[in-house]
Amino acid sequence: MTKIHWSIWIGIGLIVTLVSSRAELTLFIWIGLAFILIGVIKLIHRFVFTERAPKEETKTARPTHAQQRILRCPRCMSTAHATDNYCRLCGTPLRHLNR
Ligand SMILES: [Zn+2]
Repeated sequence: MTKIHWSIWIGIGLIVTLVSSRAELTLFIWIGLAFILIGVIKLIHRFVFTERAPKEETKTARPTHAQQRILRCPRCMSTAHATDNYCRLCGTPLRHLNR
C-alpha cells in the first residue's frame, strides 16, 4: 500500500469523483472521496515518516550486537572473542579491531 504515491490516490479520487458526479453515480462519488481521503492520510503519514527517517538510518548504520562481538584475526583468520586482546592461535594483537 505504501508503494502507491499519495498524489496518485488523490488524482484517481478526483477523476472518479468528477466523472461520477457528472454521471450521477452516487456510489462512485463516495469511492472517489475515499481515494482522496487515503491520499490525504498517506500525505500525513509521509510527513511523519520523513521526520522519523534520520533516526532509523542511524539505527541501521550501527553494527549489530553480533557483528561487534565476532572478530577475526587478520593474520591467521581464526575467530576471536571481542574481549580478547591477542589472537589465541598466533598472538596477533586484536585490541585495535575492537574500536
Ligand atoms: Zn591469529
